[in-house]
Amino acid sequence: VVYSRGSKEIKESILNKLDNNFSKLHREGRIHIHDLEAYGLTYNCLTPNILQGFPFEEFSNYSDFKKLIEIFNYCKHIVVGLGNEQSGGIAFANFDEQVEKIYKKLIIAQNEINLKFLTELIDSFLKWINDARDRCGQVQYYVSLNLGLATGDLARYITSSVLKSFMDSKYIRPNIIFKIKDGINRSTIDRNFDLLQLAMKCTCKKMIPTYFLGDSNHNLKIDPFEIALMGCRSRVYQNEHGKDTTIGKVNVVYNSINLPRIALEINREHSNLSKAKKIALYNEKWMEIADSVKDLLFDRYYKICKLEADDFPCNSEHNLMIIDINKVKSLEDVFKNGTLSIGFIGLSETIELLTGEKFYANEENHQIAINLIKMMRETIDEYRREFNMNFSLLGTSGEFISGRFPSEDQKYFSHPLIDKGFYTNSFHVDVDSSLNPFEKLKFEGPFHKFCNGGCISYVEFQSAPLNNFEAIMELIEHAIKMDINYLGFNFPMDVCLDCDNVGTFDICDQCGGNNIQRIRRVSGYLEDAAFFTPGKKAEVSHRKPNVII
Ligand SMILES: [Zn+2]
Repeated sequence: VVYSRGSKEIKESILNKLDNNFSKLHREGRIHIHDLEAYGLTYNCLTPNILQGFPFEEFSNYSDFKKLIEIFNYCKHIVVGLGNEQSGGIAFANFDEQVEKIYKKLIIAQNEINLKFLTELIDSFLKWINDARDRCGQVQYYVSLNLGLATGDLARYITSSVLKSFMDSKYIRPNIIFKIKDGINRSTIDRNFDLLQLAMKCTCKKMIPTYFLGDSNHNLKIDPFEIALMGCRSRVYQNEHGKDTTIGKVNVVYNSINLPRIALEINREHSNLSKAKKIALYNEKWMEIADSVKDLLFDRYYKICKLEADDFPCNSEHNLMIIDINKVKSLEDVFKNGTLSIGFIGLSETIELLTGEKFYANEENHQIAINLIKMMRETIDEYRREFNMNFSLLGTSGEFISGRFPSEDQKYFSHPLIDKGFYTNSFHVDVDSSLNPFEKLKFEGPFHKFCNGGCISYVEFQSAPLNNFEAIMELIEHAIKMDINYLGFNFPMDVCLDCDNVGTFDICDQCGGNNIQRIRRVSGYLEDAAFFTPGKKAEVSHRKPNVII
């Protein structure tokens, strides 16, 4: 409580100092300035280059056991350090390959004892991510491990240890992203196909891992080792100032636009317009707001660029970014490689407000929705060209705004789409559509390639699809055909606190206990539903499974 009250006051004072146009947009709920309390103080999230500054020399004289312990102490140290100096998550781009490289470079013997110890340390690392808290004990560390591509024996052993540890525990962190690529792990003849099978088995039980689809058409040109995703789905890849990669790069800052609000205003002020004219007017009004959001991103970006390397002690000490922050004249030389993201929520409500029907009700509406997202991306690409900055379109994960935007809109408008208490995430089909999963992915697929700042599609199951990984495999293959970038599977996950049994139940099917913890995923990370915000609660209560017919 103390933390949230203090944070509210900090946010107010920051809003008061901003240009009036910006703070008004935020206060009226037309846009949301994320991580407001960190305004001008730090960037959002980072995929650190953990090899660049790794103290190989310092560790070289240790015993094998001590070397192994210190590898994971180093990882924890980075997570804590970054947790203190940035506002968002931390991703390991290729956890399997990175740990393998360190292991080999430290010349640790690959014998049975060391490998067994490695497995235990991996489990301890995962356990620590679940137990550790930062920011006055309020928030867990947002850590994502990307893996699945490395084919060396040791790297494969690491991937398998991570997955088994996660699967056989009640851990809900870290977020794990399994990267799928043909020739590496997608086909039965591929070296890592067994690891994909293990990953799918783990997903069937625990919703994690989620999947980066490297064979989707718009991802074909990407070296999958160079890209990493975050649990919050941020995708930092394209770079106007250097190599296209995620490693060592930050999402500097992001703001989200309340899409339904614009449609509500058009319906009120121009109710007689034809559908086509409403849509044209919508584009115009969206561009106007996006233009302000772009200026706002710049304002925050330049404030961060004025900081010093000393303001980022962990980065400074461990050389985690694409360019060593100690060796630049201005931090702008570092941060210009990162992304500035313009996010959105509520495409579904918007199309329904403008046309009277869901975007997935018919082909015409689907095309209207695709054109709308395409218009956003083209506008943002123009910013990218004009200002030579990595502006990106983000299908925001929606934590907080799914509830905040409709509650702001309720002050000015009345409509059943507002009254349900949440707006549908990014370009997603409604959570109660009951579309079968193949249809759902077909409708959402065309949006993925436009969201170069990140996005995800989920399939919602009624219960844990235990051991039914053929269904998962089939949906992954379908998603690749539908040009989906990032795919996840959701289902109600209940944990028996008496015996640690995991499944979907009200009474534990193992011990009969009724001391049940409800784990759900709403904004990218698994969480205990008891602590959900009102918007998240409303969304979860409306969810209906995508049934395979
Ligand atoms: Zn039980």
